[in-house]
Amino acid sequence: MSELDQPVNALDGVGEALSAKLARLRIDTLGDLLFHLPLRYQDRTRITPIGTLRAGMEGVVEGEVAAADVVKGRRRSLLVRLKDGSGIISLRFFHFSPAQQQQFAPGAHVRCFGEARAGATGLEIYHPEYRLLKSGETPVEDHLTPIYPTTVGLTQPRLRGLIGQALKILAGAPQALPDGIPEPLRERFRLPELHACLRYPDLERLAAGTHPTQRRLALEELLAHQLSLRQVRLRIQADGAPPLPSGRGLQTRFVAQLPFSLTGAQRRVLDEIARDLETAQPMLRLVQGDVGSGKTVVAALAALAAIAGGCQAAVMAPTEILAEQHFRNFRDWFTPLGIDVAWLAGKLKGKARLDTKAAIADGRAQVVVGTHALFQEDVHFQRLGLAIVDEQHRFGVHQRLALRQKGEAGGLTPHQLIMTATPIPRTLAMSAYADLDLSVIDELPPGRTPVQTVAVPDERRPEVVERIRRACDAGRQAYWVCTLIEESEALQCQAAEATRDALTEALPALAVGLVHGRMKAAEKAAVMDAFKRGELDLLVATTVIEVGVDVPNASLMIIENPERLGLSQLHQLRGRVGRGDTESFCVLLYRPPLSAHSRERLGVMRETTDGFRIAEKDLELRGPGEVLGTRQTGLAQMKIADLERDRDLLERVSPLARALLEEAPDASAPLIRRWLGEEAGRYGQV
Ligand code: ADP
Ligand code: MG
Repeated sequence: MSELDQPVNALDGVGEALSAKLARLRIDTLGDLLFHLPLRYQDRTRITPIGTLRAGMEGVVEGEVAAADVVKGRRRSLLVRLKDGSGIISLRFFHFSPAQQQQFAPGAHVRCFGEARAGATGLEIYHPEYRLLKSGETPVEDHLTPIYPTTVGLTQPRLRGLIGQALKILAGAPQALPDGIPEPLRERFRLPELHACLRYPDLERLAAGTHPTQRRLALEELLAHQLSLRQVRLRIQADGAPPLPSGRGLQTRFVAQLPFSLTGAQRRVLDEIARDLETAQPMLRLVQGDVGSGKTVVAALAALAAIAGGCQAAVMAPTEILAEQHFRNFRDWFTPLGIDVAWLAGKLKGKARLDTKAAIADGRAQVVVGTHALFQEDVHFQRLGLAIVDEQHRFGVHQRLALRQKGEAGGLTPHQLIMTATPIPRTLAMSAYADLDLSVIDELPPGRTPVQTVAVPDERRPEVVERIRRACDAGRQAYWVCTLIEESEALQCQAAEATRDALTEALPALAVGLVHGRMKAAEKAAVMDAFKRGELDLLVATTVIEVGVDVPNASLMIIENPERLGLSQLHQLRGRVGRGDTESFCVLLYRPPLSAHSRERLGVMRETTDGFRIAEKDLELRGPGEVLGTRQTGLAQMKIADLERDRDLLERVSPLARALLEEAPDASAPLIRRWLGEEAGRYGQV
């Protein structure tokens, strides 16, 4: 056991209570302290003249106590007046001891740090960190002060002190922390050594997060994520998958019955998939394609390869509406080919559920479409050869690992095809999905006219209603999307109901329908069907229609309060129109006044319909955590790396990971454990 594996209570002054607080920060050992990295830095290297402080500024001030009094306001407080040559400021303490009160004797010299704010006596600092100065004491700090993530009851100075102790122990026992990246690789990739990175030198660049030592740590963290994902991939691919080489016959018959021919991009991606399926190694492929790029047909063709190979295919979608729609598509497409398609969702109950499960277990169900219920424990496949997951946001490495068990017969692992309409820039995708191969459908089917988008303030609602009337009179259909105004789904559904009522009244000649998340699956399906068949002119919906809904005759979409949604989500919604050959429109009905930020976002929506450009912009405006969604919490909550700031590092991660795995394979596991913890360290062995 190395010095750094010792529990934190080996340090001076760390008892049970403090250990428990540290444990909340996932700090158990001295080594954990070393890797508890600052969120940011404060500059306490300069003294700010009191006279130059402004409200909202942080800084170190130093001066002489002019007076100290306990004052009674709404709350009793100790008010210390501090002056230097340039001005005077108050330090205010709501919690203070008699001893503290005495420290601030008039004439005493105090140095303190805090944020100035406008208070009752002019500028004030509440509860500053402070120190009484002895005469002749050195001026201020000589380096930037790190600010660490902390927890209730643990102060920054305390945490700094503990980390300082750990660093001292490291200095005395450097061998206790081997550098995870071997020296030849460090030299080749020009990385400073680890120890130097953990001692913070006194440089301005630290505050910007661009110091080489921070960059090394950020790169190392990204590397650890990458290695862990690669490990998952290796683990999955260590199992055998059924080789599926013979889909062509069925596929040709299927394509022949389609009313269109495949785009070049669809064909290219299908080739990539076919090459994966031919091998006895499980495919792990992510297909990115903008809304409307035709991913469903690609999925169907992949499913046919599985069926031709004597296996089952499962198609999973994140919502019931979307799963239902896939089910209908697959059923309509496959029944003429003599292929049985089954449906399974959480809401399927009783005998119907048992029957479906039996058909899945004995192989009668060749394709099964459903929600995540598909991959629950009690569902057994006879021979699952391919799992297709649409809109992968909630499908992470754990789920991918769990899928291995679903191959069942012969202990084979199914091939995995994951599809997403969120176009993530390539470098980011290579980090976020390092366990997956990437295919991109970068072409829309021909004959689509780009949706024209306008932003209209809410007071012009009557014009918008009139516009719906005209579109529907001309035989087209429209969506009205109510976005989340209230946090609660119930209130949101109420709001949608109210909108439906108002629109029904305003448009008496039109048939108006409503779908929202609180309706029963069957009700939703009935409404969607009616809209699809053209029996409804206008569909009022909450954002449940975001994905998948495909009604080519719908050519107008109104989105209420678009300023509340992310760009990618708006783009998804808008993708519901512009699917036919009529000119389509999207009206962003916003509530003024718009912030500069919102105005910029709506501007992007008006200017472009290119999903990749929108995703880039979304990344810029909201950051990668939001855009990648919850699935990537790992990448979104890194300790030091920042996907936005460190974008250029992303390109170096893959080559470094490859080199490390080749030249120092043993280095991988300790790096993963260091940055991602024990659990991730075990992924490789699950
Ligand atoms: P998404 O990629 O958003 O899931 P879909 O698979 O729902 O897109 O396809 C959108 C629409 O485009 C569907 O109506 C589908 O039938 C149609 N489509 C798919 N491929 C083509 C193609 N090559 N040519 C014309 N239409 C196509
Ligand atoms: Mg789709």
